[in-house]
Amino acid sequence: MTIETDDYRDVWVFVEQHDGTAAPVSWELLAKGRELADETDESLVALVMGDDVSDLAEEAVARGADRALLADDAVFEPYRADPYGEQFRALVEARKPSIVLIGGTHTGRDFAGRVAVPAHAGLTADCTELAVDDEGLLLASRPTFGGDAMATIKCPAHRPQMATVRAGVFDTSEPTESDVERAAAVEEVEVVVAEEDALSTVLERVVSDVVDITDADVVVAGGAGCEGEVGPIVELAEVLGGEVAASRAAVDEGWIEPARQVGQTGKTVRPHLYIAAGISGAVQHLEGMNDSDVVVAVNTDPNAAIFEHADYGIVGDLHEVLPKLTELVREQ
Ligand code: FAD
Repeated sequence: MTIETDDYRDVWVFVEQHDGTAAPVSWELLAKGRELADETDESLVALVMGDDVSDLAEEAVARGADRALLADDAVFEPYRADPYGEQFRALVEARKPSIVLIGGTHTGRDFAGRVAVPAHAGLTADCTELAVDDEGLLLASRPTFGGDAMATIKCPAHRPQMATVRAGVFDTSEPTESDVERAAAVEEVEVVVAEEDALSTVLERVVSDVVDITDADVVVAGGAGCEGEVGPIVELAEVLGGEVAASRAAVDEGWIEPARQVGQTGKTVRPHLYIAAGISGAVQHLEGMNDSDVVVAVNTDPNAAIFEHADYGIVGDLHEVLPKLTELVREQ
C-alpha cells in the first residue's frame, strides 16, 4: 500500500489510563514526544480516551502537549482493544499523525498491535531509545538477539510510525505552573464507537499480584553473591519501604522471581536509592539501573565493576553488611 507520507504530521502520545489514573509511562512519553516534536517542528498531541477523563487531557497539556484529543465516553472504561482500536482508526484516518508513541505496558502492547495492523503501520515494540533522523523519520531502537545487540528501526514508507516504549527509560514530564489555557487546548472528538458494537464485554477485573518494581523509590537488589540466601535483601527492602530486585544470575538460580529482574532483559528502574548487593556490575545489569539517583554497592570484591557506578561502596559480605544496615534503619 503506497501512501502520501507528506500528508502525515505531528507526534501523538497515547495517554494510557485506568480508572482516571494515567500510567506513569504516558508522562514519560510526553517528555520524549516534546523533544521529537521540537526537532521535527511539529505539534505534540496527547490522545486521551476514557470515561470522564477531561482532567487527564488538561494535565497532558500542562505537561507539555500542544493539544489533547479527548474521546470521552463510558464505552472506553475499562480498556478494551476493539472500542479503543476503532476510535483510534477513525482518528488516524481523519488527522494523519506521523508518529505515535505508546507505553510498553500490557495495555499498550495490546493496543499497539490492535491499531498498527489496520493502519498498515510499522510498529517497533519495546523500544529503549527514540530519535529522529535528518528527514524527520522516527529512529526507534530496542535490544535484539536476546539483548546481544541494539536494533534501530525506521519505517520510511508507512504512517503512522509507531513505537511501544519501555516504562522508566525516559524522564517524566512535570506539570507546569503556568496558567496556560489548558482547557482551550483540549479538543473533544466525536466518539465513533457504541457499546452495542463492542466485540467484547468485561465480566470481571482481577488485579494481578505480579509486582511492578519500575515505580519503586527504593530498590534493594540481590545477585549471585546472595548464594541462595535472600533474607537480608528482603528485610532491608522491607524496613526501607522498598522493593526487592535481582540480577539475572539470582533470577536464573530461582532465588528471586523473574518479574523483579533488573537489566537489559529485565526491567528498567530509576529509584531514588538502588542498593546492589552481591552484584558484579555487568553492562546488561547496569543498563536497567544506571539512572538511579543514588547507588549503594555491597560486594566482597573491592575491584567489582559495580563500585565504578556506585555513589557509596561497602566492601564486605552482604550477609553481614545488610543486617547491620537493616538494624541501623530500624533504630532511626
Ligand atoms: P556475578 O557476575 O556472578 O557477580 C556476583 C558478585 O557478587 C561478584 O562481584 C562477587 O564478588 C560478589 N559476591 C560474592 N559473594 C558475595 C557476598 N557474600 N557478599 C557480597 N558480594 C558477594 N544480567 C542482569 O542482571 N540483568 C539482565 O537483564 C541481563 N540481561 C542479559 C542479556 C544478555 C543477552 C546477556 C548475555 C546477559 C545478560 N545478563 C543480565 C547477565 C549479565 O551479563 C551477568 O551475567 C549478570 O548480571 C551477573 O549477575 P551477578 O552480578 O549477580 O553475578
